[in-house]
Amino acid sequence: MALILDGKQVRDRILASLRPRVEKLAEAARPPGLAVVLVGHNPASEIYVRGKVKACEELGIHSEKHLPTSDVTTEELLFLIRSLNERPDIDGILVQLPLPEQVDEDAVLMALDPVKDVDGFHPVNVGHLVAGRPGPRPCTPSGIMRLFQHYKIDLAGKRAVVIGRSGIVGKPMALLLLYANATVTICHSRTRGLAAECGRADVLVAAIGRPAFLTGEFVAPDAVVVDVGINRLKDRQSVERIFPGDPEKLEELGLKGSVLVGDVHPAALSQCAAYTPVPGGVGPLTIAMLMSNTVEAAERRLGF
Ligand code: NDP
Repeated sequence: MALILDGKQVRDRILASLRPRVEKLAEAARPPGLAVVLVGHNPASEIYVRGKVKACEELGIHSEKHLPTSDVTTEELLFLIRSLNERPDIDGILVQLPLPEQVDEDAVLMALDPVKDVDGFHPVNVGHLVAGRPGPRPCTPSGIMRLFQHYKIDLAGKRAVVIGRSGIVGKPMALLLLYANATVTICHSRTRGLAAECGRADVLVAAIGRPAFLTGEFVAPDAVVVDVGINRLKDRQSVERIFPGDPEKLEELGLKGSVLVGDVHPAALSQCAAYTPVPGGVGPLTIAMLMSNTVEAAERRLGF
């Protein structure tokens, strides 16, 4: 039986360790402050932001939402970011991506004060990561590293394959695995022989965004599989194909209008050593690490 790597349990541990630090900051100075910028109406982004704000509330972190309309200009967003950069009570600024087409996303992210960049996306912080220097790390890969630590999964000398090369997940994930002394391969849409590359992995991290894409031939029997993908199945046919003979999933589709599935096919998961479920695997860790980066930013700014 494969071991299920429970992201919620690790999230709870991370949040529990942050709580006394938040209390100490609040008593001595003020609570940490996070500003979230969410442009327009993107249902998936709204769900993510709700989760982040709720986590702040539960921890005692001050959070505030800024909700420009979808016709916002780059200049207007730059003005907002600069005003948040100057606010002494705001330690972290998170710009929820994607931004609308008319906005110069790069200019907006560049305008963030790197000290308040709790996502770790600013080129200054990307530079710190590449150079192996301290700095805020992108939340999803750093959460996955916490998961490995929690389950005592030793990465030294292991063959790690990361599928996906985005700046948010794939590239920073590969670097963090490298710093943990894994032998790292990065795969992407132009990789030849993807199944064979993946099949050699001791640790496989899938960050593609394609439902149930990795079938059994991609997964070695003793592999540890981290499934980052979050994909929504909205039609009955896809649900029946990916979850055959599972009435609960059809019921979920009826109730919620969609069923979540990762990038790894559920049938492939049962044959590996350990895996993160979707939902309940990587997602909770991402939010926990955002809280961790916010607390660290506050401690740094307040001299703790
Ligand atoms: P991107 O779309 O930015 O990157 C996807 C990557 O997958 C690209 O590098 C792309 O290659 C690669 N890819 C696409 N198709 C194939 C293929 N057929 N074979 C091999 N590689 C392929 O996505 P993100 O990195 O932002 O996110 C990936 C997934 O993770 C999404 O489902 C997203 O929702 C989820 N996610 C989940 C989070 C969580 O907290 N659980 C947090 C962030 C993301 P190429 O570069 O060549 O195009």
